[in-house]
Amino acid sequence: MNLPAGVLTGQQWQELNVILKEKKAALPAVCVSSTGTANAAMAAAAEANSPIIILASFGGGYFNAGKTLPKDPTIWAAGAESIARHIKIMAPFYGVPVIVATDHCSMENLPWLEKMLEIDQAEFDKTGSALWSGHMADLSASPIDEALPIYKDLLKRHADLGMILEFELGETGGEEDGVTGTASYTSPEECSKVYGELIQISDLFTAALTFGNVHGVYKGNFDLRPDILGACQAKIREEHGLSEQNPMDLVFHGGSGCTPDQMKEALEHGTIKQNIDTDTQWAFSKAIVEYVRANEDFLNTQVGNSSDPDAPNKKKYDPRVVLSGAEKAMTARILESYGWLNGLNVLG
Ligand SMILES: [Zn+2]
Repeated sequence: MNLPAGVLTGQQWQELNVILKEKKAALPAVCVSSTGTANAAMAAAAEANSPIIILASFGGGYFNAGKTLPKDPTIWAAGAESIARHIKIMAPFYGVPVIVATDHCSMENLPWLEKMLEIDQAEFDKTGSALWSGHMADLSASPIDEALPIYKDLLKRHADLGMILEFELGETGGEEDGVTGTASYTSPEECSKVYGELIQISDLFTAALTFGNVHGVYKGNFDLRPDILGACQAKIREEHGLSEQNPMDLVFHGGSGCTPDQMKEALEHGTIKQNIDTDTQWAFSKAIVEYVRANEDFLNTQVGNSSDPDAPNKKKYDPRVVLSGAEKAMTARILESYGWLNGLNVLG
């Protein structure tokens, strides 16, 4: 398909989602926290010949801003903005379309989302497009009667700026960025009700439904039930008289440890985005550990190693050498995800 290299608007993202649903394919949505990890994601997209989704959480934004700064939503927003602007500048050089979005914003972190929407509004006024392609609000820890009016207000404001709002219904289990949840299953009735309310405002939304998914990797089994996604789509079709098989664009969070069959089933039910964080974190850190183990002889002193007491070790301890290996490992892990998601070669 014909998409420009660079950051996509929410409308372009939505057009892409239609094609992904037809192909029963999804894109990896990679959490990053620095320019280097953003580059690792764009490198994977270039190799996959597909668009990519790059996300910053509030924690990622804070890390990128620098953690000696105070814990402040304005600073988290500035850190996330800096990543988004880096991607906007660099994506054309990687030659890939990039969707730039943010991850879980809970009720208590809504001031962070407000700050980003201010940045989007200013960018929109200046250039005609928002800075980000979309944001995520995750009010799943609150009762739906409290969450829904906020989702509706946010959707209206996202749609006015041509952006996509992702919302979560039902709670993802595990821990991410210090936020913990209990794995749950979205109710098809509730899902259909929310769809009915939101679609009257705009169709620029995606939904993170829960079907036993968990953030992170833990010992023991979790009961992942992608059939719940099918039940939610069926309920929407039935109650709203729709003929489309998968009316809702779905996002899969907490996918570490799911089987190929479960993944395939999730794709069949309209999953177009899978968030990845835990597995790319592991790939990145493991590459550093392996590098240190393999090069210990050169890392203990600035000059001298076991074969030459006078040799300088600068080329071994240069952080760029260490980190570029970690970024390559992250790129390789993202490419694996593209394969799982049937997301390779989407650009044809
Ligand atoms: Zn998530």
